[in-house]
Amino acid sequence: MDVTLEQLSGWDKEQLIYIDTRGAVAYHHGHIDNAVLLDDICIANNSYSLDYSKKYIVYCSYGEKSRDIVISLRKMGYDVYNLKGGYREWLQKNVIDLDRNEQIRYDRQMILPEIGTYGQLKLKKAKVLIVGAGGLGAPASMYLAGAGIGQIGLMDADFVSLTNLQRQIVFNETMIHKNKAKTTKEVLEKMNSRIVIKAYDEFLTPFNAEKVVSEYDFIIDAADNFETKFLINDICVLLKKPFCHAGILKFQGQVMTWVPGNSPCYRCIFEEIPEKSSIPNCSEAGIVGAMAGIIGSIQALEAIKYFSGAGELLTGRMFVLDGLSMNSRIVEFPNKNVHCRVCGKNADIRSVMENKTEYAMNLCRIEEV
Ligand SMILES: [Zn+2]
Repeated sequence: MDVTLEQLSGWDKEQLIYIDTRGAVAYHHGHIDNAVLLDDICIANNSYSLDYSKKYIVYCSYGEKSRDIVISLRKMGYDVYNLKGGYREWLQKNVIDLDRNEQIRYDRQMILPEIGTYGQLKLKKAKVLIVGAGGLGAPASMYLAGAGIGQIGLMDADFVSLTNLQRQIVFNETMIHKNKAKTTKEVLEKMNSRIVIKAYDEFLTPFNAEKVVSEYDFIIDAADNFETKFLINDICVLLKKPFCHAGILKFQGQVMTWVPGNSPCYRCIFEEIPEKSSIPNCSEAGIVGAMAGIIGSIQALEAIKYFSGAGELLTGRMFVLDGLSMNSRIVEFPNKNVHCRVCGKNADIRSVMENKTEYAMNLCRIEEV
């Protein structure tokens, strides 16, 4: 009943029809060439529109579950075989755009029906910019490099300090006083030499924002200050670049993703940069490293979902986690804010350069550097 790919190579291809039993989502993300979906040929319960003169090769992910279908189709008199090793085996032998190293490296996520080969190839072509190589940027960049994002940009002018090691897990004691973006690049290159990593040892400012952001397909807001968060929002909305916002403080974390279209942006919700004294930052209020790890990892997950098409993004929805109680909730923001200054009806922010004084903290920091 089982047939291997080697045996099949000697069979008449004209007579063979593959049947994919893994379901529509998995099929959509990649299948054996010309395979038909089992659901599509099922007319009614246990009744299939098949041809008695053809040979059918039935497969699932690993070649085990599909055996039951082979047995029932054989009982109906069809000439049916089970593909040994399933789709996974076929994938490893037939994916030419991913070499052997990449097929092994990404195997555990490619076998997921929501990612598959097509999803992996999309990750390989993807370019993600991470603004801020700190508490959020460390886990986000490590998981994205591991997942095989084709190009990762890291932007940070800061230097590693002893106080960073409590949460910025990409760094170690030998890296103190080194630039964060360049150091993260060195670490990630050792993890995955198959991808391109670019380090920008500067802060995101109205002067460089358009040039850098326009090079990427998805932006991760891993910044630690409101001025940069508003700047990321405004430049991404203006350039129609999807981005994932996150914020962390003490034991709290929040994540929201914006994609061009009808979902509200960060400014729709928070409107204006808060006064410096009104909201404490990490160094004043404190932060638990593990919270940065959780929230930065969710940002990486949002980017992977965006490119692979898997699941639902946090668009128009803010995920909020309280690490003390472990209560989480999703706050829905179904509509844009009509008064939003960057995406509302009478938006007055048309360029980040025109609006540059609002992101002034970064201008000061540049002068210091
Ligand atoms: Zn808006």
